[in-house]
Amino acid sequence: MNKIKVMGTGSSGNCYSLEINNEILLLDAGFQYKKILKFINYNLEKISGCLISHEHRDHSKGVKGLVENGINVFALKSVFNSLEVKNHRCKEITAQKRFTAGNFTILPFNLEHDVENIGFLIKHNFSGKKILYITDTYYCKYRFKGVNHILIECNYSKEILNENLKDKMFLRNRVVQSHFELSNVIEFLKASDLSKLESLTLVHLSSANSDSELFKREVEKSIGFPVNIAVEGLEIYL
Ligand SMILES: [Zn+2]
Ligand SMILES: [Zn+2]
Repeated sequence: MNKIKVMGTGSSGNCYSLEINNEILLLDAGFQYKKILKFINYNLEKISGCLISHEHRDHSKGVKGLVENGINVFALKSVFNSLEVKNHRCKEITAQKRFTAGNFTILPFNLEHDVENIGFLIKHNFSGKKILYITDTYYCKYRFKGVNHILIECNYSKEILNENLKDKMFLRNRVVQSHFELSNVIEFLKASDLSKLESLTLVHLSSANSDSELFKREVEKSIGFPVNIAVEGLEIYL
């Protein structure tokens, strides 16, 4: 069964698996290698690779273990540098340059975070399905056509953040300059071509500054499409 599975999402660790035709592509690896291995039911041979968005440990903790166990990890140079990992399985990628992992063709693109960060437009070569993965960004300047499945960060809402951090401007501004806010996510989605959309999942919700029910309702209302909220163990059948 083709599916997207959520191992974990948010600042405690991000990792998703995209499984199509018995082939697995991992999106981020923010957990220890052994936990990731268990998450994929020890099916190492099914993995075509792992894509890493950026160097923060909640997205990259498992990189060393993955490359040491023969998995190709595709990431920016800054990720491998910051983790101090050197291995022939470390595949350096750059934004706007397409690459392939197994039967997936992937376009990485720049996002806006407090460190260098990329999103991924993934196309499965046989089924033609397109999956978009965007996390840890306060804005996305690109628009995408004909995407079938979207995983997108929806970290906080201004109202909740302002209420929670009204006496902590420094912290507040840090969030604003690094994560996707509800109304900006909605604006991005409304400006996107959703004509081929089959699933939409909000990821990386802040534990303190979000409200999953509210976010689901607001996004559904504005785009007229059912919304999933990523939680540990969620499976989305494709
Ligand atoms: Zn993160
Ligand atoms: Zn981050």
